[in-house]
Amino acid sequence: MSRKYSVLLADLDNTLFDFSASERIAITKLLSRYGPVSEQLLDKYSAFNDSLWKRLEKGEITRKQLIATRFTEFFSSQGINGDGAEAAPLYEKYLSETAVWLYGAKKLLLRCRGKIRVYIISNGLASVQFPRVQASGIDKITDGHFISELVGYNKPDIRYFEAVGESIPGFSKAETLVLGDSLTADIKGGAEFGCDTCLYDRFSSYTGESGIKPDFVIHKLSELYKILDI
Ligand SMILES: [Mg+2]
Repeated sequence: MSRKYSVLLADLDNTLFDFSASERIAITKLLSRYGPVSEQLLDKYSAFNDSLWKRLEKGEITRKQLIATRFTEFFSSQGINGDGAEAAPLYEKYLSETAVWLYGAKKLLLRCRGKIRVYIISNGLASVQFPRVQASGIDKITDGHFISELVGYNKPDIRYFEAVGESIPGFSKAETLVLGDSLTADIKGGAEFGCDTCLYDRFSSYTGESGIKPDFVIHKLSELYKILDI
């Protein structure tokens, strides 16, 4: 029996890389420039940042707005005396310097070599993602990467996926699996585009309530060996 999937489109952050860990490192570095950093302050930033990214996914704000206002708004909400416009590029620099692999991610990519082509699909900033991609060496063990800022659209916009499909030689939706940790970005987008989808439900938080139904739900990346037949 021949292998069903020839291409894996894999999300990067919190699918292959531990973005939460990278963010925590970068934001701690940044905030410590302005004063003492507590766990509570870090949690507040994390919740605030998540709410902005959700708004971006829904198309309520643009990426430009998110970057321009993120620290200005957060600083003023927390009474931090700092220049938000100056903080934004510093934060990106700190973030671009940290890439933390998730358990089993490198092994998965190595097992795919020569069997299934792997492309990274990431909603992110080129200035942050490129250095992380290069510093981690992930570009050496994957077939290409598509960073949404450069594509011009964000997941789950179907135009993002169309641009990805058009750029991959011999691309076939029926032979492609979309892997990601986000129901609203990866799974929704991949399914609407017409590919099979796999949710990486690392914290077993998937309940099915959202109405977005992945074809597969995994809790460990090694569960993909069987799905991909690798
Ligand atoms: Mg993700």
